[in-house]
Amino acid sequence: MLQIKSFTFNPFSENTYVLHDDTSEAIIIDPGCYEREEKAELFDYIKTYKLIPIKVLNTHCHIDHVLGNAFAINTYDIPLWFHKDEEPVLRAVTSYASNYGFPSYQDSNANHYIKEEEVIKFGNTRLKAILVPGHAPGHLVFYHEESKICIGGDTLFQGSIGRIDLPGGDHETLLTAIKEKLFTLPEDVVIYPGHGLTTTIGYEKLNNPFVGKKARY
Ligand SMILES: [Zn+2]
Ligand SMILES: [Zn+2]
Repeated sequence: MLQIKSFTFNPFSENTYVLHDDTSEAIIIDPGCYEREEKAELFDYIKTYKLIPIKVLNTHCHIDHVLGNAFAINTYDIPLWFHKDEEPVLRAVTSYASNYGFPSYQDSNANHYIKEEEVIKFGNTRLKAILVPGHAPGHLVFYHEESKICIGGDTLFQGSIGRIDLPGGDHETLLTAIKEKLFTLPEDVVIYPGHGLTTTIGYEKLNNPFVGKKARY
């Protein structure tokens, strides 16, 4: 059975997820740990449950989602995967990390570019990568069909959507992608977002003020 552990890291209150199943194999999604205590929290969880991380995935490469990339890939000697359209987004982080207050940010490099609809395997688990651009150009969400769980990054939040004022952001692209790629999933799919609390497709379809039936914006 798929287990999801969430952590909230860094001043952006970014949600980092560790997914694992009965095989003990695990993946780390959007490691945002920066401070020593945050890295220790992630490390201790993995150690306590005797997990074997096999890769790091980034939904997208804004600074809050990649602060712990280098820590995770170096600690476990595992590859980093994300969509190729996030390459310039990640490269830009190096130039602004210090100004944002993260002088010891360490760069990281992709070992594999995830394609749209690619199936990502760990243990007995298969996740489908779905491209949902707009907040960032190569933004992926990771969908586990059997348990109706979707790691959504900064696409759809409880009562909100991802910001579109960051580099590579586009409002119409995001609205269209949410409607076509996320709102076509079953209504009881639970979204585990990049910030804040979980929500469901059905709830947001009805209530989301940006893309739901009661949209106000
Ligand atoms: Zn973001
Ligand atoms: Zn974020």
